[in-house]
Amino acid sequence: MIQADYSKIPGKIWLNGKYIPTKNANIHILSHSIHFASAVFEGIRVYNYKAFLLDKHLKRFKKSSNILDYEIPFKINKLKNICNKIIKLNNLKNGYLRPIAWRGTESMAPTNLKSKIGVAIAGWDWPVYYSKNAKLNGISLCVSNWKRPPKDTSPGESKCSGLYQICTLAKHDASRRGFDDALMLDLNSNITETTSSNIFFIKNKKIYTPKIRNFLNGITRQTVISLIKKNKINFLEKDIKINELKSFESAFITGTACEITPISKINKKKLNSKNIFILKLMNEFDKITKGK
Ligand code: PMP
Repeated sequence: MIQADYSKIPGKIWLNGKYIPTKNANIHILSHSIHFASAVFEGIRVYNYKAFLLDKHLKRFKKSSNILDYEIPFKINKLKNICNKIIKLNNLKNGYLRPIAWRGTESMAPTNLKSKIGVAIAGWDWPVYYSKNAKLNGISLCVSNWKRPPKDTSPGESKCSGLYQICTLAKHDASRRGFDDALMLDLNSNITETTSSNIFFIKNKKIYTPKIRNFLNGITRQTVISLIKKNKINFLEKDIKINELKSFESAFITGTACEITPISKINKKKLNSKNIFILKLMNEFDKITKGK
């Protein structure tokens, strides 16, 4: 992934009602969310000047804030119009939108029931997440020592900033060990997701994906499941223990940023990144996103 100083990217950000140059889009250091990880956000791909599945992402944006006990003070239609205006203002042919909401400066304690909710929407060019060859040759994953927490210990279905503490640590560890990304398990050794995507496995012409247990039910995951069903490919959603990994022939990840990307290995286990079902699904996904 390209490293950049995002405060210097060109274009405008919509911040609490105004479109302002990116470099001026600041919030106060005593905002609750910086201290207590209470921001929620979205990542939305733009294909050919059009935001993909915008309604679904904005619905999840609102739901994520409700799970964290606050309400984003704008209707979905208003947020939609802002996203479309950012695409225009920043001339985003193939890019990425980042709506974010956070609790304001009204309290410096964890409790902050009456705080103002800030909202911003940014957008930038963002062609690929992993290297250019990742789609062709697949990426490598290592199994992380960081575990996805159970339902009664974290709001795992909210796309909230707190969720990404574990993801960042797991991803740093993976990079240091020479892998592209990390695969996280739950406390019962069930496979969950990577640091920014959901995962699917293939064996004997059947596709499997982990049942959602307090991790993100990705919008791309849902789209890919509908493509699998449309193509009448055998499919099962179930708990998948890490010791089942050795029986799989192929695997791939799904997410807004990585779209569908094959996996070439997990730890030392080699996987076939050119599996015919993966190629078919990538092709179908391209058709609906890029009209190919
Ligand atoms: N899991 C995590 C932790 C993520 O950050 C993402 C990216 N939003 C996903 C899964 C995939 O979700 P989506 O397909 O909605 O982008």
